[in-house]
Amino acid sequence: MAQHFLLSKKYRDISEYELSRFTENDWFDYFRNIRFGGLDKSICPRCGAIDAHYFFKAQKRWRCKHCHRYFSIKSGTVWADSKLPLSKIAFIVEKFCSAANGISALRVSANANVQYKTAWVALHKLRESIIRTNQLSKLKGEVHVDGGHFGGKPRSGQFRHKAKPEEIAAKIKLGKSQGARRSRGTRANYERKKKNRRIVMVAREVVPGLGGTKTAVFLSSTENDKAAKYIADNFIESGSLVRTDENSAYSSYSARFTHETVEHSKEYSTIDGVNNNQAESYFSRLRRCEYGVTHQMQARYMWDYANEMAWREDSRWKTAKEKFDDLLFRTLSTGLTRWWRGYWQGYRRRDEMLIA
Ligand SMILES: [Zn+2]
Repeated sequence: MAQHFLLSKKYRDISEYELSRFTENDWFDYFRNIRFGGLDKSICPRCGAIDAHYFFKAQKRWRCKHCHRYFSIKSGTVWADSKLPLSKIAFIVEKFCSAANGISALRVSANANVQYKTAWVALHKLRESIIRTNQLSKLKGEVHVDGGHFGGKPRSGQFRHKAKPEEIAAKIKLGKSQGARRSRGTRANYERKKKNRRIVMVAREVVPGLGGTKTAVFLSSTENDKAAKYIADNFIESGSLVRTDENSAYSSYSARFTHETVEHSKEYSTIDGVNNNQAESYFSRLRRCEYGVTHQMQARYMWDYANEMAWREDSRWKTAKEKFDDLLFRTLSTGLTRWWRGYWQGYRRRDEMLIA
């Protein structure tokens, strides 16, 4: 049997152990290499001039030769308003990259010895970088499309001690149950569940033998034809082979693509091998994240988590260093954060990024 990629020597070209031995100065050079493509020049974030700008060694800052502004390695990046040392930023990026199903802010907070609030914002800045540096061209060839329900799962146990002791005693006497029953299926519970529930829709380009290679994700209130049409119009090349389940939302696809369906209540793959398993494997990872890592996803930030998992799926054949460098470069090339400045001071992103 072929060796699992994550177990191979090829994957382990960089590790947390080795990175932990880097000093702050080593990281400064590493960040310069990633951001400016070398140590001999730097780029002014204000006027964009590429030059050997004046360097002030003690402050680790440059002064632009053209517009005379000062800038540092963090200026004009998502880390611009962060006091974290470069070594901790790198540590958080590495933690994020090496976790298969995502990592919680609580864990990062403990591992990096930063406040929970700091870890939460840092992780979301990574997600923002992934989203804003995505340059997705239209998907073509074989494309798998599907929608999955996420969020809004009621936490169990909250009605547990609702019953009065004498009612419990009566129930035990009658042999109906042991102790108080949890009341489930109430109207209030259903409304709460629905309020935070969203549909994550995914479209993946599939290369035979390689699996899903390019992934686009969308957030929708229901799996409806409007959302399906939006995805078809903007993200799928005409003439593609599109595989979905038998949901009526995709009925318009038959007219515009080579459309094949699989009836999920009966089978996962038809006898001819028609399936949309690459969409399912994406959902599997997002589901593991929701159930096992974050435990809940606010509807407002579900799109961020969905995009994080799309990045993980698409870079699953990259080595540890390739992933680390890719993500670090994204954080240094996104520009200032739009969504995570002053989060704990009360600023919240308004949009939920729903497509339908
Ligand atoms: Zn300048």
